[in-house]
Amino acid sequence: MKTVMINPDGVSVKGCSIIYAPKGQAGEYAPLATNPYRGCGHGCAYCYVPLVTKQPRSEFDAGAVERVDFHKRLVADARKYEAAAITEQVMLSFTTDPYHPGDCSLTRITLEVLRDHGLAFCTLTKGGTRALRDIYAFRPERDAFASTLTSLDERFSRKWERGAADPSDRLAALRAYHERGIFTWVSLEPTLDIEASLAIVDATHGFVDLYKVGQANYLKEITRTTDWRDYTLRIVEKLNRLGKRHYIKRDLQPYLPEGYHNPLRVPQRHGIPEVHAA
Ligand code: SF4
Repeated sequence: MKTVMINPDGVSVKGCSIIYAPKGQAGEYAPLATNPYRGCGHGCAYCYVPLVTKQPRSEFDAGAVERVDFHKRLVADARKYEAAAITEQVMLSFTTDPYHPGDCSLTRITLEVLRDHGLAFCTLTKGGTRALRDIYAFRPERDAFASTLTSLDERFSRKWERGAADPSDRLAALRAYHERGIFTWVSLEPTLDIEASLAIVDATHGFVDLYKVGQANYLKEITRTTDWRDYTLRIVEKLNRLGKRHYIKRDLQPYLPEGYHNPLRVPQRHGIPEVHAA
């Protein structure tokens, strides 16, 4: 194999596009990512992906399909990462959901390719217990399982995330992964209702290791009418009181107390000492 070159970000390999370093707000979530599918059947009303990928929303919402030659291209990229001795976590996914309502067997194949080439992985999903099909592929000391939650109320969730698993089903998946010894985290983004997001922490802190908290991107009315300072201060008080690791995303950072300890890359695997915010 030819010598592989690392990009200036220090974590991604030049010439790779299937395993890539996400930029901007996505980059706050993970150093590396991959997207096995095009489209997603969850139909979230706030989903920004069709805008980013320039896909008609009707086509995107019709369901996920495997990306052309994904497996072959994934293996080619994974070999280069292995040659570069890069072992970071790769997140599935930003532009689809790894446990969408259709055939998600390519997700397991993706996890196995990453594992076989020395990489770790993390899945972020609203697919709930659909994700249990792959639970034995996860390693406590390397990998992580995450779910996005916007509310515990099923009617509220069905209004905003009509094709996704109900919140109670997402909680069941998080609990199952936690009981299996896998690092779990919750994305509290978008925040659609601050009381709902605070209630999620109350209901889940017993089986969730880390929370990532953000605003309501692309939702101007919610963004305009929400008191983000109040929310930020209340959620960090709660998370600190409960002793939970957290990362407050850039859009909420202006509301943090001065000098607040808010590291971007909290380790997302077990076996790393707890680091609490000051
Ligand atoms: S689960 Fe994610 S990718 Fe799928 S529609 Fe919802 S926001 Fe978009």
